[in-house]
Amino acid sequence: MTYPHAIIFDLDDTILDTTLSADRLWSRAAEKFAKQADLDATAFDAQMKISREWFWSDPKRNLAGRMDLYKARSGCVEHALKTLDASNAQLATSIADWFTQRRITAMQPFDGAIDTLHTLKQAGVRLGLISNGKGETQRDKVIRFGLEPLFDCIILEGEFGTGKPDRRVFDHALDELQAKPSDTWMVGDNLQWEVAAPQALGIKGIWVDWRGTGLPEDTDVVPDRTVRSIAELVV
Ligand SMILES: [Mg+2]
Repeated sequence: MTYPHAIIFDLDDTILDTTLSADRLWSRAAEKFAKQADLDATAFDAQMKISREWFWSDPKRNLAGRMDLYKARSGCVEHALKTLDASNAQLATSIADWFTQRRITAMQPFDGAIDTLHTLKQAGVRLGLISNGKGETQRDKVIRFGLEPLFDCIILEGEFGTGKPDRRVFDHALDELQAKPSDTWMVGDNLQWEVAAPQALGIKGIWVDWRGTGLPEDTDVVPDRTVRSIAELVV
């Protein structure tokens, strides 16, 4: 296996099962609270999923939401309740509280993800981590999953002051890793942040298609490589 000098990873939905674990936990919340809203649990779960997609799809809401996850969560629940004609601000808060208390422990690394990072490190590859989100939240995850010693450079949006796709985060990572763009891979699940933006700087963009759905029809982004999980990088 030939590796580049440096590989930069995204964290959520690349190393950690962020969305999968959240979806599972939201479904449990729907089960638990549907009765209080006089709703069918399956319908409530489905609408909360639609509301989350609606919320996070807008870049402005996405930025504000990742800096205040609690507000984002209660906002998504409120939106779902309202759409189902069951508006209830107090219940939205209770659900967001319940979810928030369980969120971090529900999250796990994808199968083989941590072993993959160890293998790459042992092979002498310089490893970087660039993660968007609030500094505190993202740093908690880095510590909880023992990621700090694995990486030569860790850039968290909330700590650094700006996030992907701002080229300053990639430039800073290349500097820290003493890497040339042409000898660097960026690996992540977001086509804009982790494929298109680094490619524009000459970095190879590897897309993690963890859902296995293939490229969306409406994208013009062409990844240099697509994997289902980062474990494929060391096979
Ligand atoms: Mg991600």
